[in-house]
Formats: sequence, structure tokens, C-alpha cells
Amino acid sequence: MYRTHTCGELRIGDAGKKVTLAGWVQRTRKFGSMTFIDLRDRYGITQLVLDGDTDLGREYVIQATGQVVKRESVNANLPTGEIEIKVESINVLNKAQTPPFTIEEVSDGGEDLRAKYRYLDLRRAPLQRALALRHRLAQEVRNYLDAQGFMEVETPYLIKSTPEGARDFVVPSRMNQGQFYALPQSPQTFKQLLMVAGYDRYFQIVRCFRDEDLRADRQPEFTQIDCEMSFVQQEDVLDTFEGMMRAMFRNALGVDIPNPLPRMSWYDAMDRYGSDKPDIRFGMEIHEISSLVKGHGFGVFDSADYVGAICVPGAAGYTRKQIDELTEWVKRPQVGAKGLIYIRMGEEGIKSSVDKFYTPEQLSEVAAAIGAKQGDLIFCLCGAKRKTQTQLGVLRIEMGNRLGLRDPKVFAPLWIVDFPLLEWDDETNRFYAMHHPFTAPKPEHMELFYSNRKEDLEKVCANAYDFVLNGNELGGGSIRIHQADVQERMFEVLGISKEDADYKFGFIINAFKYGAPPHGGLAFGFDRLCALFGGQETIRDYIAFPKNNQGRDVMIDSPSLIDREQLEELKLIVKTEK
Ligand code: ASP
Repeated sequence: MYRTHTCGELRIGDAGKKVTLAGWVQRTRKFGSMTFIDLRDRYGITQLVLDGDTDLGREYVIQATGQVVKRESVNANLPTGEIEIKVESINVLNKAQTPPFTIEEVSDGGEDLRAKYRYLDLRRAPLQRALALRHRLAQEVRNYLDAQGFMEVETPYLIKSTPEGARDFVVPSRMNQGQFYALPQSPQTFKQLLMVAGYDRYFQIVRCFRDEDLRADRQPEFTQIDCEMSFVQQEDVLDTFEGMMRAMFRNALGVDIPNPLPRMSWYDAMDRYGSDKPDIRFGMEIHEISSLVKGHGFGVFDSADYVGAICVPGAAGYTRKQIDELTEWVKRPQVGAKGLIYIRMGEEGIKSSVDKFYTPEQLSEVAAAIGAKQGDLIFCLCGAKRKTQTQLGVLRIEMGNRLGLRDPKVFAPLWIVDFPLLEWDDETNRFYAMHHPFTAPKPEHMELFYSNRKEDLEKVCANAYDFVLNGNELGGGSIRIHQADVQERMFEVLGISKEDADYKFGFIINAFKYGAPPHGGLAFGFDRLCALFGGQETIRDYIAFPKNNQGRDVMIDSPSLIDREQLEELKLIVKTEK
């Protein structure tokens, strides 16, 4: 037997027992004639004490036998901190080279170095806690969905494109030269086919692949909790998955989320928060002030389509320098505003950057309209409506961060509902599906959906919904199209020719001709969900072997070149452009 106990297990009640532990030497300290060793495994750290010296290096794998004794100086930070093991014998199971960074709660290694030696980084307690939480949450999902009659079904990874708005990763086929599989961006079409096949309630904790330009904290492969149900309406889906989230919060975190969860229409979310994933942990809502500020000779506002404002509570003390810095901040291309107008509700009265154009009374009116009080600071932006709202939304989040209003231990989930079905793109001069092309128009908007007028199509809404938590879209789904002719119409609206639609999606259009039940579902981004539950912004710690910002796995050094023979077998020629 390698061990009688783990390194996280022994307590004062075990004093006197003879035990054997196995683990890694985190560090050794000499103290007079004694040596203290912190022995670590997945479960914790136990202190070993022995008479005399040792030549054990960091990360040696050892087995130690001895007696549990009460410790003289208790370490209140360790669950095992009241005891130590008086070592009788040590057996070195394996030596180790000195690791390139310290393997402790806080490491001295930089991110790149730790990524290269991920297997060492994974020995650290924060990462072990992160993966344990991930495991716990996956179990909660399975328990809940199993109890609700859901069946976990695996769908293939080598498929044909599933459009979810990103580029596909493709895999060349050796047996079908010149042809390629695509890796699924999601199992969307397969889960719908499972509904046609009568499986009724499906789920899968599944890997998805999207070849996107990596924005911060995205991974080219990521995990979804993917679900689909038949004979349901939006209400049934929301109800089921609210229940799942409730169970996860309760069982994994001991947190009770509101019952029922708040819901907000997409239009309200955009108008009030400038975002379809609003963080509702704090107010600072957006207000349209166009009618109050237009027509007073201030050209910038007068010529704007929309003027909006947020009130930053208690920020009237912001210095000119701070406001200038924020002005530069909103002008960065990532935000894209032209400038920032402020109204300061100071002790000495109202002051603004547009005092020339407005009387104090007029500015007070603006302040009253958005509920600003003395001591507050108002920021205004103007331009095209949705664009300006989005910019105000970004500024709002930034101010929320700066004022410490976004506590990761506070959870404010909600559903966003009533999304528009389609989104017009000026550049390509066509509609795109806001969610994906399998989302159904609301039944009451069917007539608009068959109209050929752009203004009508823009008004079509979907029974589509997103689950939003603390300013992050954690999941989303919709009631689907289940009739072949409606699906064909959708492709037509999206400007996809009949031939193209048949070539790419013939299988699903056909399947709908053989008795497809009404169905709907959703998927949650599992990596982000874990990170948010863990109170962290970044998903990387919650993935055992993640890729870096350039989409590389620096540990195994991938992607990499392949052999000439492999290329030859696949009949591929690599054209390297210099
Ligand atoms: N397949 C969708 C996605 O990946 C989710 C869904 O509609 O169920 O976002």
C-alpha cells in the first residue's frame, strides 16, 4: 500500500496513529537539527518533521511513514495545521529536476513559463480548486438533467460546417482526397436531428471548435452544455434551465438565485444598458436625453440621431485630468466615441463642458430626467442610436469597474428574450441570422417574415433567449424552425441560393419533411460558467490544457508542421507565403 491517508486528511484526532503518506515535496526547511518538509498531494499539505538533514529536492515524489503528533506551532491556514508527522522512514519514489517556478498557492513563474509546464502548474492548489469546481458543476448538470429525463448522446466531431458565425476548423480526408470534414462549431444540426429521431430530451457536455480571431479570453476549442427538447415552448425551456442553474448555484456555491429569474427584452437591454448582456449588479442606466438637449445651438447634439447619458454616482469630484483620460479612453477604436461631454453636479453648482450652450436650469432638467443628484457626474455621448448606446454601455461597465461595483462574489443572472431574428449588414448588404439560421420567427411575426421589405424583416422577432450573468452571455438558444418550407424561406432571406442551401443543409431540410416535432433548446458555455462560478474573469484556469492568446498550445508546441509524407498521403500542397 502506497499510503494510508492523503496529505489533506489528518487532524488532531488522529494524533498517535502510525501513517504512511505519499506526495510531492513542496519545500524543506532546516530548523536547528530538525528538517521540516511540506508534503503535497491533490488533497492538501501535511508537515513532516525529521531529525537531521535530508537531500530531498523540491518536487521529489516520496513516501513517508511516521506517527501523527500534535504540532507545537499551529498553522491556522492549513486544515492539517494542528498536526505533523514524526517521520520514521522516507522512501524516494522518484527524483525530480528543480521545477522552473515555485509550485505553491502563488507561483513566482510568469504566465508563459507556467503554460509551457502546464503539468507542473496544474499541481498548484488554485488550479486544482478550479478543476474540482468544474468537475462538481459537470456532475450537477448530469444529475439534474438525468433526473429531468434528459439523455446524453454523443454527436460526431468530423462533420460538415455548422454555421454559428465563425470560421470552421477543417480536417482533410485521406480517403476522400480533396475533401474536408469540418469540426463542429456546435452540435446544432445533430441535436435537431435527434429531435426528429424522437429523442425528446437531449444533452451533451461537448467540445466545440471555432476558428475565430482570438479575442481576449476565447479558446479555439471550448465546451458547451448543449441541450434540446421537443414539444416545448420558450417557457418550458426557460423553466427547465432556470431550474438547472438554480441547482448548480445552490449545490456548488450555496447561493440562492432569484426565483423566477428576471427577464428583459433585447430592446430594453439595449436601451437601458447598451448591451445584450447587461450587468445588472449596479444601476447607472442609460437615458435618452435627445429631446432635452437638442435645439439649443450645440451643433454636435443637434445633428445627432440620438443623445444618451449615464449618471456616475458620487463621481463629481473627478478631476479635469481624470475626465480627460476617460475622454481619451472612449475615443479609442475599441469604444469608438467621438468625444465625451460631462455635467458635473458639484457643490458649487452644475458645471459642464457645454456651459456655453445651456443654462443651469436646462442642465438641471437633464440631471432630473436621469435621476442625478448633487455629487454625481453625468457623461453624455451622441450619434447613431444603437452605436451610441453600445458605447455608453461600454463606458458604464468601465465606470462600474472603476467604482468597484462589480463584485465577483455577487451573482445577478437574468434572461434576455425577444431577440430580433435578423441583423442587417451594410457592408455585405444582406441579412444575417442574429442567433443562427435554425431559429424560428415568432409565430405572430410569420407574415412579416414572408415580406420582402427590409423594414418588415428587421421587425421580425424570435423566441430566442440568452442566459446572462454579471455582464457575460453564459448561454443562449431558441425555439427552432421545424418545417422544411420555413427553413427554406430562412435561407432565402439570408441570401443563400437554393442550390447552396441544398448542398450545405439539404440533410436537415429533408429531415424536416419526415415528421419533425416542434422543438427548441439552448447551450451554455461551460468554461465561462465555471470561471464565473469560481469568481474569476479568465477561463484559462478552468481548462486543464488551454491554448494561449495566439491559439497555440505551447506545452506540446501545436499547431506544428506535418511530415512531407503525411501531406503527400493527403494530396495537399502547402503554399507558404512569405
Ligand atoms: N448552438 C447554439 C450555440 O452554440 C446554441 C443553441 O441554439 O442551442 O450558440
